[in-house]
This record gives sequence, C-alpha cells and structure tokens, in this order.
Amino acid sequence: MEDCIFCKIIKGEIPSTKVYEDDEILAFNDVNPAAPIHILVIPKRHISSLADMKPEDEKLVGKIYGVINKIAEEKGFKDEGFRVIVNCGKNGGQEVMHLHFHILAGKQLGEKIV
Ligand code: 5GP
Ligand code: ZN
Repeated sequence: MEDCIFCKIIKGEIPSTKVYEDDEILAFNDVNPAAPIHILVIPKRHISSLADMKPEDEKLVGKIYGVINKIAEEKGFKDEGFRVIVNCGKNGGQEVMHLHFHILAGKQLGEKIV
C-alpha cells in the first residue's frame, strides 16, 4: 500500500524504534505514547482493519497474540499486566488504516470501558 504510514515503516521509509521483527510481524514504539510503554504490533501484510480480515489471516492474528506475550515477557511487564487494544473503523476511532494492536503497559491503566 503506497500511501500507508505503517507500510512505509515496514519498508524503512519512515523511521521507527523496533521492538520485535520476524518475517510476518513488526512491533515498534508508538510515536505518541498513551502509557509509559506503548507498542504497536502489526502484520507486515497490509490488512486495512480488523473488519478486513480474511479467514486466511486468522493464523497470523493468532501469531500476533503470541508475539505480544513474548514482548511482555522480554520487556518485563507480563506479570504486572497490560492492555491490548484494536481500534476498528470510524466508531472504533481507528486513524491508521493498517491493522495494529496497541500494547499499553507500565502503569495502572484508567478509563476502563469494558
Ligand atoms: P489508531 O488510532 O489508528 O488505533 O492508532 C494509530 C496509532 O499510530 C496512534 O497511537 C499514533 O500515535 C500512532 N502513529 C501514527 N503515526 C505514527 C508514526 O509515524 N510512527 C509511529 N511510531 N506511530 C505512529
Ligand atoms: Zn499498510
């Protein structure tokens, strides 16, 4: 996707602070952190949103949750806890149209909606 910010980050055209990378998944620090630890985990394949997921993407999304756990372990916040958020579409407040998982950690998180 030519004009997708996150595809540009994957290609290295926009710099980012990488936290994890493999052939299918990239994780990097959010540029505007909402918590002491705020990491975005994305598939390297461009999927616009959770609503655009295809059945063949399900394995990859499962793997993303495994990577999230691995990051939590390696960064040392697995035991104290963290939150994973996926904003989807207009009502979900999604701003970047490339599927991403926010990991928030490092403090007691407030504004619990559910
Ligand atoms: P959304 O609102 O779509 O769920 O989240 C998009 C997130 O991407 C926001 O938290 C925003 O701070 C982050 N973001 C937007 N542009 C960039 C960028 O160029 N680099 C990084 N590292 N994060 C970005
Ligand atoms: Zn993209």
